[in-house]
Amino acid sequence: MAKFREFAEICEILGKENSKKEKARLIGEFLRGLSPAEGKIASYLFLAHFPAGRRIFLSWSTLIDVLGEMFPLTPWQLQEIGAESVDVGEIVEGIYQRWNRYKSSGFSIEQVYEKLEELSVQGGKGASKKRKTILKGLLVGMDGLEAKYLAKTIVGEMRIGVQEGMVLEGLAYAVGLPLEDIRKGFLLFGDIGETVETFLGKGREALLNLSLKPFRPIQPMLAQMAYSIKEVFEEMEGEVALEFKYDGARVQIHKQGEEVRIFSRHLNDLTDAFPEIVEKVRKNIKGDAIIEGEVVAMKEGKFLPFQDILRRVTRRKEVGKMRGKVPLELFLFDCLYSAGESLIDKSYEERWRKLEEIAGGIPLAERRIVSSVEEGERFFKLALQAKAEGVMAKALKGVYTPGSRGKLWLKVKKSSTLDLVIIAGEWGYGRRHNWISDYHLACWDRERKELLMIGKTFKGLTDEEFQEMTERLLSLKIREEGKVVYVKPEVVVEVAFNDIQKSPRYRCGYALRLARIIRIRDDKKPEEADDIQTVEQIFNSQQANL
Ligand code: ATP
Repeated sequence: MAKFREFAEICEILGKENSKKEKARLIGEFLRGLSPAEGKIASYLFLAHFPAGRRIFLSWSTLIDVLGEMFPLTPWQLQEIGAESVDVGEIVEGIYQRWNRYKSSGFSIEQVYEKLEELSVQGGKGASKKRKTILKGLLVGMDGLEAKYLAKTIVGEMRIGVQEGMVLEGLAYAVGLPLEDIRKGFLLFGDIGETVETFLGKGREALLNLSLKPFRPIQPMLAQMAYSIKEVFEEMEGEVALEFKYDGARVQIHKQGEEVRIFSRHLNDLTDAFPEIVEKVRKNIKGDAIIEGEVVAMKEGKFLPFQDILRRVTRRKEVGKMRGKVPLELFLFDCLYSAGESLIDKSYEERWRKLEEIAGGIPLAERRIVSSVEEGERFFKLALQAKAEGVMAKALKGVYTPGSRGKLWLKVKKSSTLDLVIIAGEWGYGRRHNWISDYHLACWDRERKELLMIGKTFKGLTDEEFQEMTERLLSLKIREEGKVVYVKPEVVVEVAFNDIQKSPRYRCGYALRLARIIRIRDDKKPEEADDIQTVEQIFNSQQANL
């Protein structure tokens, strides 16, 4: 039986190791010595992650309270230790060392995990006291190193540089299978712990088990960004399916018999938050199925802000009250499994057909099959008029690729534009090494008569335009620092972007997300470029639309 102390020791080593490859090997060696059930636990602990979005509701102050009961700690001592330490784990270890607590508990990792599970479900009256008792029961028997890693797990910050991908790599090493197979397994199992447990237990045979099963959520397929309908047609040939891109919460719904469960984009269980969706699915969907869709908040035919759905998720305890305030609608867009058969290897067309067949009265996403840019743009306009976020373009022959952000799905969102001034550019790399290609973009602070940088982009120009822009900027050069060429602010460009974020990166306090140049505005003088007030206005309206 693996001891928690051994887990703490390997974490200590991993935290000091810089090579990712070596880290993965060390994880592999460790996993190899564990039973499948222990492997599952160790993988959760490495990542301080618990299945199905479960969290440990313990704060740093609770931890300190418990330590205060165990050690004669004065506030200044705590402050002193805190000042010398970089994280919670080290603070706790420091306290243990000060009182020479070097005796290990002998707890197994399973015993510790069991207690952590108890901590994650403790709620209601007297819960805080119960939590403290459980925590104390663990800490009292531990030595400094064990307590350090227990504390890190509890606050959810391991700081040992281990990510999911590294655990998968370690697992591949431990069971001697190609990483690709392990990744495939992970995408279908959806959960790191289950992946580790299954592969440690069954080795290669785990791959035979890789079919979809209701109530085992899988990583969702993701979309790449396209900046226009024109770009969609450059990526996809012939006919393309365009669907409204609703601005809500993505859900993966599993139904078997009368039982229905709803999972979020990150595979957290949302079933309790959306009881009316559960009822609707139970009533309408024909047979066992795994389907996907977007849940949106809607009142009198109008979409409500995205925050409203979030309220439905965060205030689950008041679900009855929230149901009246925030009515939900579901739009379906995919079917991954129906009546015992996995459909992820079938084409989008076939999956859509199946969805139509089984959806009953539940609406599918508004959709059109289009075959030209003009037709696509018309539908895109329609989507924006309906207050959708944009459109999703889907390749008709495309299969469902769990967890990957490929080109079989492209998203085109509405974008705003700003006229900005180029104040500098950077020499490019690779193919662009002869061009000044990454442009620093600025808007006006008219009061102070100064230009404020708000973003950078190298996107949007053709090779020929890069060439011309390079010559033009060199003729405007003020000075060069490293790869940055500062220029007189004369060139105005129209820049599209997806949204504006608050950001400390630039002095103006904002940054453009996914900026790209759509036009060089030779018809505009630099003084005519947009100012920070306009940026603020767009930012504020964006917030209102969320
Ligand atoms: P975003 O922040 O743009 O929503 P994302 O990273 O969450 O992106 P992507 O796969 O890149 O996910 O974009 C598709 C997202 O759009 C889905 O996650 C889903 O929530 C939402 N969506 C809305 N309508 C549809 C639709 N008809 N088909 C697929 N996804 C849709």
